[in-house]
Amino acid sequence: MLKRMMIKNFSWPLKTATQEIEITRLYPERMMELPAAERGIHELDATICIGCGSCARVCPNSCIEMVHYKFGNPLKNKKMQFPQIDFGRCMFCGLCVDECPVECLKMGKKVVMAGWERKDIVKGPEFLATKKFSAKEVSDLEAEAKRIAAEKAAAKKTAAKEGGAKEGAAKKSAKEGGAA
Ligand code: SF4
Ligand code: SF4
Repeated sequence: MLKRMMIKNFSWPLKTATQEIEITRLYPERMMELPAAERGIHELDATICIGCGSCARVCPNSCIEMVHYKFGNPLKNKKMQFPQIDFGRCMFCGLCVDECPVECLKMGKKVVMAGWERKDIVKGPEFLATKKFSAKEVSDLEAEAKRIAAEKAAAKKTAAKEGGAKEGAAKKSAKEGGAA
């Protein structure tokens, strides 16, 4: 009996050593395959984020803060505000993703976020952005935003001038009508 147990105890290590059966993985060099429904670190498309802050407002753990990021679209995101996520508090519920009106935030498949300090697990737009504009594209978009704003201001001025002229003419004719 004892002999049989001893053989059994040795047979498994012998089997794993000779047949290369995988017992443990050398993390992080070898990652396990993640299931399709895995919710990992968020991915942000900074080219379409409008900076509305809905993701931050809906987060039940208040782990999203809106911060400045210079590689977004100034035409769509005038204040250039993008989400920064504190993964020390995030529970990966996905509510922020569901709430995003332009679908620029999604749960990604990256799960490695370890760091040496507390601040290392607070990830800003630079880390989260999987899509962003280059500095040249941003300056072109900024020029376009300025041009549109100038056009709007000029149109507003013209409309105000025309409105003032019409009002003046109406007052004048009312005066003339009263005198007759
Ligand atoms: S996944 Fe949930 S907890 Fe994490 S940032 Fe989004 S809303 Fe907040
Ligand atoms: S990620 Fe979506 S919800 Fe959050 S600020 Fe950008 S557009 Fe709004």
